[in-house]
Amino acid sequence: MKLPKVNQQHLLFSIALGVVGLLINYYPIQFFANVQFVLGNTVTVIAAVLLGPWYAFVTAMLASTGLMINWDSPHVYLFFGLEALFLGYARRRDIYALYADAAYWLIIGAPLVYVYVTFIMDIPSSHLGFIIAKQGVNGLVYTSIASLLILAIPKLWFFKDKVKDRHRRLLSAQLTYFFTLMVTLTLLFSALIFNYYYLERQQTMLRKNINDAVSHLATSAQNYINSHKTVIANAANQLTIAADDPLRWQPILSNLHSSYPGFISMLIANPQAEIVAASPVSRLLAQSKTQNVSIKDRDYFIESFYNHRLFVSSVFLGRGFGNDSIIAMSAPFYTNEQHTTTAGIIEGSLDLNHFSHVDQTNEYAEDESVVMVDEQNQIIYASEKLGLNSLSPFTFAINKGVYQTSLELLNIERPKSIVPEYIYAHKTLDNGWTVYILKEFSPLLKLAEEQMFSSFIMLLISLLGTFYISKKLSALLTVPLEAVASQFSPSGLGLNKVQSIDENSPKEVFSLYQRLAASKQQLIDHQVELEDTVARRTEELEAANRKLKELVDRDPLTGLYNRRYAERKFTELLDFCLRSEQAITVAVLDLDLFKKINDNYGHLAGDECLRIFAQLLQKYFKRDIDIVSRYGGEEFLLILPLTNALHIQHHLNSFREALAEFEMISPEDKRSFHITVSIGAITANPNYADELDKWIKIADDNLYQAKQDGRNKTVIDIITQ
Ligand code: GH3
Ligand code: MG
Ligand code: MG
Repeated sequence: MKLPKVNQQHLLFSIALGVVGLLINYYPIQFFANVQFVLGNTVTVIAAVLLGPWYAFVTAMLASTGLMINWDSPHVYLFFGLEALFLGYARRRDIYALYADAAYWLIIGAPLVYVYVTFIMDIPSSHLGFIIAKQGVNGLVYTSIASLLILAIPKLWFFKDKVKDRHRRLLSAQLTYFFTLMVTLTLLFSALIFNYYYLERQQTMLRKNINDAVSHLATSAQNYINSHKTVIANAANQLTIAADDPLRWQPILSNLHSSYPGFISMLIANPQAEIVAASPVSRLLAQSKTQNVSIKDRDYFIESFYNHRLFVSSVFLGRGFGNDSIIAMSAPFYTNEQHTTTAGIIEGSLDLNHFSHVDQTNEYAEDESVVMVDEQNQIIYASEKLGLNSLSPFTFAINKGVYQTSLELLNIERPKSIVPEYIYAHKTLDNGWTVYILKEFSPLLKLAEEQMFSSFIMLLISLLGTFYISKKLSALLTVPLEAVASQFSPSGLGLNKVQSIDENSPKEVFSLYQRLAASKQQLIDHQVELEDTVARRTEELEAANRKLKELVDRDPLTGLYNRRYAERKFTELLDFCLRSEQAITVAVLDLDLFKKINDNYGHLAGDECLRIFAQLLQKYFKRDIDIVSRYGGEEFLLILPLTNALHIQHHLNSFREALAEFEMISPEDKRSFHITVSIGAITANPNYADELDKWIKIADDNLYQAKQDGRNKTVIDIITQ
């Protein structure tokens, strides 16, 4: 495999970006709970867009190191390295970074986070949605920032071989992307800021609520205990008054108990520690049957009877009446008002399930639980859903982990987990008891997750709207532009159709259209003019050509055809005569003693003779098909097709005689003179010979004969077969 060439400049830039990313990632932005926003990855996106996948990978590795230091978790290299490659390759395929990043987190990122959180991290699955949504939102935020930076400062990104757009993009796509970026950034930022403050407020409210609840509960517990203590004290006073009449004790007790159902049971004992009255009465009856009814060993008897004080016991499990946790309150009563002799004690077992009543009617929330412990941290009461046993020690761990919150947190079930289980508040009562209110932490997280999710949905809906609006917007420009373009396209140019442009099109486009239309009209006018000129010139050129061709075939002095023309035409005429089986005559004419004419009358006179001779020839041989040519010097050649053999010699002689009679005038000295011509000719059927030379040879021989015979003669061979 061929390794791609490394561009030093690009590598340096990707490393520089990576270092910047590392520094930014080293100080992540706290959002809520253990959620931090990673903005350092902005540089990875920039590298991916400008330099391609592998340089972006280098940048991502460096930037992720900032997170690695913070989180101590190597997964960041995998998540963000893959993201860099994905974005880089998407860029090569001309896919916008924001779309690519959304796709990455949907297709690859989310499943990876799922696997990582589920199998590697000790985080409950209820947190999963929140974590995944947060990663996606985070990705969109830094990709938008990066894309806007690239759009905003294009001069900064001057690289020779940077990734280029392979295709020109449509205006609508560009507009859509720009709007999408803006919407994504503004929406996400405002949603995140709103969510942040909302969550903050929520936490403050929670803290206040839970503190209120704990005070309320502590006060009510305190009042409950105090009021029942007062009841016992008052009852002791009442019994002191009735000390001499033990028969009244039971009705007093029963009456009292019916007024204060908070006591699960009540009893009166005599100085011998024997129960003499009880409420409900069944308790006394049941106990007297089965066991010794002496309460001599009980703390509450000893403390009240011997130490003469109002006593409140620690918590213990009630015997005889179920397993409710109770406390005993007892007070001595006396035989006289002076309290000198103790007449007995009164005791009430206070039902601590009363707190369950308070707990159940707790107005705050279902996810709130109550724990009450005594001074030895023994659980007096705990909400059922906590699954804690009464009178066992209350064990929990304060959660001061990585979760960023102003709330006090603790864990019961999983004391070592970093994920908090409960938000709590506590208060210690006068008697040393402590009330705890616990509120589950996960609903708060759920709220954050829902917010994140609804931000996402809001973003999606806005993006759809953005798509629609930007398409419409770009259509405002592109549709009229395309109409203009199609109208001025090469195919539209010739048709000269004047189509008016859409009413709604922008002024600029309309003015462009008008200017184009004007230049189109100019172009058409010019074209017509040009066509006219070309036609005229062509005609002139053709005429000149024709003239030239004529000139080529003519002898300039006499205006007769020249020898070349005669020779060329001969075959044509021979064929013509062959078809019509007519004879053809070839005659050679040579002016007699022409040298002397020149000598006697001058060269000009000679030329004039030649011209007059030519005119005379044309006069005598004037059929269209006759070829009258100057063969050279003072020699002429006649080719006379369709010859009448009987008349030809006569016709030649008529010409010769007419010439001889013609009076020539010398142009210089105006002397008159005559010239004669000798003619050698042949008349034969066209199949006599194909070549002109053979005909001329006979004619020449005859000419020679004519000269020999004394000149001004015609010698002709008429060959008829
Ligand atoms: P013959 O009867 O034997 O043909 O005698 P001739 O003098 O005509 O014959 P020769 O061939 O000796 O001379 C031809 C002369 O024709 C020579 C030349 O000066 C003259 N001549 C040829 N072409 C032209 C021409 O274009 N203009 C003039 N003025 N003279 C020409
Ligand atoms: Mg001659
Ligand atoms: Mg001659």
